[in-house]
Amino acid sequence: MASNVVGRRKPYTAIGIRRLSCYRCELPAATQWQCCANGNRWLPLCRGCDVALNELALRFFRLPQGRKLIRQYRNRILKEGE
Ligand SMILES: [Zn+2]
Repeated sequence: MASNVVGRRKPYTAIGIRRLSCYRCELPAATQWQCCANGNRWLPLCRGCDVALNELALRFFRLPQGRKLIRQYRNRILKEGE
C-alpha cells in the first residue's frame, strides 16, 4: 500500500472506532465513513464531523426534507455521545 493512502479497507469495529481520533479534526472518533473515491476505505469521524458530512450530502442531493432530516440526525447522533 502506498504511504499516502489513508483509511482502512475493512470497517472498524464499534470498539475499534472508539480508540481512534477523527481523521478530520482529531477529536475522539465515534463513527466512520466509506469514501468510494478513496479506494472504498473507511475513515474514522467524530460525531460533529459525521453530522457535517451528512449535512453536506443532504444538501448535494437537495432532498426536500433535508433540513428536517439533518436536524433529527444531529439530535440523535449528539445525544448518543452524551
Ligand atoms: Zn471531527
